[in-house]
Amino acid sequence: MIIAPKKMLAMLGGGQLGRYFVMSAHKMGYKVTVLDPDPQSPAGRIADVHLCSAYDDKNALDEIISTCEAATTEFENIPADSLNYLKQKIQVYPDGESVRVVQNRIREKTFLRENAIPVGKFHIINEEQDITNIPEDLFPGILKIAEFGYDGKGQKPIDCKTSLTKAFDEFQKKPCILEKRVSLDKEVSVVLARSADGLIKCHPVAENVHVNGILDSTLAPANIDQLTEKNVNDLAKMVALKLNYVGVMAVEFFISGREIFVNEIAPRPHNSGHYTIDACYSSQFDQQVRTLTEMPIGNPMNHSNAFMINLLGDSWELPSPHEPEWTKIMDENNFNLHLYGKEEPRVGRKMGHVTFLSNETINQDEIDRLQKIKKSL
Ligand code: ADP
Ligand code: MG
Repeated sequence: MIIAPKKMLAMLGGGQLGRYFVMSAHKMGYKVTVLDPDPQSPAGRIADVHLCSAYDDKNALDEIISTCEAATTEFENIPADSLNYLKQKIQVYPDGESVRVVQNRIREKTFLRENAIPVGKFHIINEEQDITNIPEDLFPGILKIAEFGYDGKGQKPIDCKTSLTKAFDEFQKKPCILEKRVSLDKEVSVVLARSADGLIKCHPVAENVHVNGILDSTLAPANIDQLTEKNVNDLAKMVALKLNYVGVMAVEFFISGREIFVNEIAPRPHNSGHYTIDACYSSQFDQQVRTLTEMPIGNPMNHSNAFMINLLGDSWELPSPHEPEWTKIMDENNFNLHLYGKEEPRVGRKMGHVTFLSNETINQDEIDRLQKIKKSL
C-alpha cells in the first residue's frame, strides 16, 4: 500500500543507519518512531518518538502497530520474529524471513551455495566433531561465529586444525563457519533497492578498503572494468531476487584474479553506501523510505564522484584524548563532515565519516592527500 507523507513510519534499530533513515523520512515529510533500548541511540535522539525497549518487547511492538503505517530495520540482528509479528498488522520491508537467512552466516552461505551464487570455500562447524573432516585446502582460513559478528568482531585467523580447535573453544563452541582466506585484489559492494513490484535499482558499485576488518574508505564509482561491474550488479540483483527481497540491501564482494565471490549480504543500507547521501540523486536512505512506503524508487546514479573515509573513535582517542581539528576538513573544498551524535568516542567505534566530492575521477594521489588530512585530525 502506498503510504503518503505525514504518516508515521517505524525504524527498528537506532544506530547511525537509522538516524539517516529518520533524516530522509523527515525530508519527505514522514514522521518516525525509533525502537532501540539505548536512550542515547543516534536515531532515537532525532526521532519523533523513541521507544526505549528491547526489540522483542511485545508492548513496544503493539505500540508500533497502533501508531505506525509501516516498519523497517537498520539492524541485521533484529529478531526476525519481531518483523513477522509486525507484518501481521502493518507493512513491513524487508521480510523477517529474508533477514533470518542473512543474519546467520551458516544460513547465508548455504543460501548462496544452493542458488549457485559464487561464494568462497567454507565449512560449517556446528560442533567439535565437524572439525575432524575439514578439508586441508581451507587453511589458512578465518573462523567466523555464525551470529552477531560485525566490523571484524567474532572472527579469528586460523592456520591449522590445532588453532581451529582452540579458536572454536574460545567462541564457546557456538556454531561457526570456517572460510578459506581469499587473496583479495579488491573488495567492492553493491547497494540496491528493490520495490514491492520487483523493480531493482543499483547505486554505482563501491570500492572498499577495510583495515582490521572495519571499513576504512569507499571510492565510488569503483575503479573496475565494465564486465566486472556488470557481473557484480547481476549477482547482487540475483541475491535480491532469490531472497524475494523488498527494501534496500547491500552485497559485499571479494574480487580475486578473475574470480568474484559474494562475501556478505546486509538486509539494510550499508556503510559503503554512505557516499550516496552526498553524491547520488537519491541516497540509499531515500530509497529505504521509498521502498517502505511503496513510493516509486528514485534515481540511484551519482552526480559526483566520491571518496568516503570513516571517522572512528581513534581520531579522538589516539595518540591521546583530544578534540579532532575539524577546521582541516572544513577548510577543504567539497569535503563534507558527518557526525552521528555519539557521546563516547571509543577506539574502533564508528563516530562519523567524511565524503569528498569531485567532478573528476578521484586518483590515488588525491586519495593519499585526503587520507593524510584525516590521519592528521
Ligand atoms: P563483518 O561482518 O565484520 O563485516 P566480513 O565477513 O565482511 O565481516 O569480514 C570483514 C572483512 O575481513 C572483509 O571485508 C575482508 O576485508 C576480511 N575478510 C573476511 N573474510 C575474508 C576471507 N575469507 N578472505 C579474505 N579476507 C576476508
Ligand atoms: Mg562485511
